Amino acid sequence: MKDNDNEKGLINPWEMDLIEKSIINYDRLFINFGLQEINEKIKKNVKELIEENKLKCINYFERNIIFAHRDFDKFLDNYKKGMNLAIISGIKPSNDFHLGSKLIADELVFFQKLLKLRVYYCIADLEAIADNNLPYELCLQNAISNLADLLALGIDEELTYFYLQSNEIKVLRKAFVCSTKVTNSMLKAIYGDREIDLYLSALVQMGDILSPYDDNHSMVLVPVGIDQEPHIRLARDLAEKFNLQLPSATYNILLRGLNGNYKMSKRDKESLITLNEDITSIKRKLKNVFTGGRNTAEEQRRLGGEIDKCVFYEICKAHFINDDKIIEIMRNDCINGKILCGECKNHYGKYIIEFFEKHQDIRKEKLEVAKNIVEDISKKNIRQI
Ligand code: SF4
Repeated sequence: MKDNDNEKGLINPWEMDLIEKSIINYDRLFINFGLQEINEKIKKNVKELIEENKLKCINYFERNIIFAHRDFDKFLDNYKKGMNLAIISGIKPSNDFHLGSKLIADELVFFQKLLKLRVYYCIADLEAIADNNLPYELCLQNAISNLADLLALGIDEELTYFYLQSNEIKVLRKAFVCSTKVTNSMLKAIYGDREIDLYLSALVQMGDILSPYDDNHSMVLVPVGIDQEPHIRLARDLAEKFNLQLPSATYNILLRGLNGNYKMSKRDKESLITLNEDITSIKRKLKNVFTGGRNTAEEQRRLGGEIDKCVFYEICKAHFINDDKIIEIMRNDCINGKILCGECKNHYGKYIIEFFEKHQDIRKEKLEVAKNIVEDISKKNIRQI
């Protein structure tokens, strides 16, 4: 198998947690899929917007967590011209939010605060049914938990349109229209050989991405993990056929599980932390998280820690420490052997526990709001009929 064939087989939205992602070569993704690099102009524009809006947040572009894009430069240009733009995102309600789902939710909140644009937030119950074989009622329960987290993370309820995929007639209609523009061989080339329900849920996602154009939005931004790239490619192919401005996307890197490999599977509870997890359990998992520590204290003082291997550093950088100066101190102390892993986890772990304690209090308050939203949107098509 050639390298690029191997990569194409790996990048898919349904099985990324089942396979070893460490063989993904990010550099080759730019060549194989034509992804665009985050250049200095984009970084400058984002930095200025963060300052203008006085945001105290992680700058995902500067920290290379968002590492690639498609037409995000055009999206920013259109934003500056005052065009009517929107952001689209969603989550498959197959489980409670963990750190992987939190990253996408955080990026969504980040872009909404940065650009003050309307967000379309899709609860992808059809995909949960197709991919995970979940009963509808369980999807709704998970959706309530997910929305409580999203609200606690700071999504602006007033500036967000929440909907349930299976109940959003205009999305389903758009999916049907999209189906007239694709062939079996197109779907097979993008997604591989799949069951019909997965192809169907992919088409519904096309409805999600393209239906905001029917509300007079001239372009959409879709912040995603690299595993969702096939959906973006298909959406852009379809947008071209409908003579629309192509959807823009930003791509974040895939974070590792707590055990240091990329199998952050929901089946392995020790490899992930959920946002509603008991604090004692979180503390225990942080004690065991994979680090870049050396074999002995003497060796670590002499050689410094192997920070690029360290999951503890990765999660602090992507999730819990906003201040760049603190991240820099952590990095320098590690690589210069000034701190050992135990001390490091004790010291910086406080930021993590502080986040969870605060987040869990807010999510409790938001549960009722989330329940009302889900109840409302799940009854919607009854009203429409
Ligand atoms: Fe990771 Fe800290 Fe150990 Fe460095 S000192 S490897 S950052 S836990």
